[in-house]
Amino acid sequence: MDLKLANRIAVVTGGSSGIGLATAQLLVEAGARVAICGRNEERLARARAKLEDIKSGCVLAKTCDVLDTEAVATFARNVAAWSGGRVDLLVNNAGQGRVSTFESTTDAQWREEFDLKFFSQILPIRAFKPLLDASDAPAIVGVNSLLALQPEAHMVCTSAARAGVQNLLKSLASEFAPRIRVNTILLGLVDSGQWQRRFEARADKTQSREDWFAGLAREKRIPLGRLGTPDEPARAIVFLGSPAASYITGASLEISGGVSRYI
Ligand code: NDP
Repeated sequence: MDLKLANRIAVVTGGSSGIGLATAQLLVEAGARVAICGRNEERLARARAKLEDIKSGCVLAKTCDVLDTEAVATFARNVAAWSGGRVDLLVNNAGQGRVSTFESTTDAQWREEFDLKFFSQILPIRAFKPLLDASDAPAIVGVNSLLALQPEAHMVCTSAARAGVQNLLKSLASEFAPRIRVNTILLGLVDSGQWQRRFEARADKTQSREDWFAGLAREKRIPLGRLGTPDEPARAIVFLGSPAASYITGASLEISGGVSRYI
């Protein structure tokens, strides 16, 4: 199947690590030009070098905090100058989860979490909308979590915010139709930067990486018996964002190894 991504312009927020970087790699391999952003300059430079190794001259990497309105507007201006004023695909992926219960979450943390989950979608969509409008097949893919539909008590504010984001993106799929397609992916557990940091902070430092992740998969009762790898959701993002998914909008695809319990 031809995804028709050759010479397309894609923007991947949080493209310097994990799922975002894997998505950018697949896009470059498919012939697209990709702009990535993240906050940490060194991580971004490493990601840029990896992408340049696949194909040189097809990557723009800029530091940008997606929660900073001015920084996002500047990123969009840089992308416009680099791409000739057009973006075909916006992947809103930047972010992280928060482990906390209702008892342990302060009001400030609730506000922080809503801010992160909503504005990491709202600000890039607002800033890149004029560039998406210039495309003949524009698409947005929001990276969301299964927590949106299947909340977990130990991630209470992340779950609630994720549900709201799912609702927001469903509305946008209607508001932006028929011009811009808007879809989401719902992640279970994917072995990326976030889980690497949790592994490094494990209580028993004698436990190997393999054993720790295998234990996690058992504890979470993942039917496929393991966490996902970043390229597994990346493949779904690239498909949903490509012209090959031309009749799909307002949809969400679960990438979780089967961990959902609803029908
Ligand atoms: P990583 O930590 O590997 O990657 C996160 C990326 O987002 C990094 O590039 C990071 O760069 C960037 N980022 C984070 N905050 C910001 C910000 N405010 N502005 C710009 N860039 C930012 O994690 P994943 O690949 O796992 O995460 C990708 C997305 O998937 C996230 O939204 C995460 O919440 C979501 N997700 C992941 C799950 C998993 O199991 N891995 C489960 C459910 C959802 P930097 O820190 O330098 O800014």
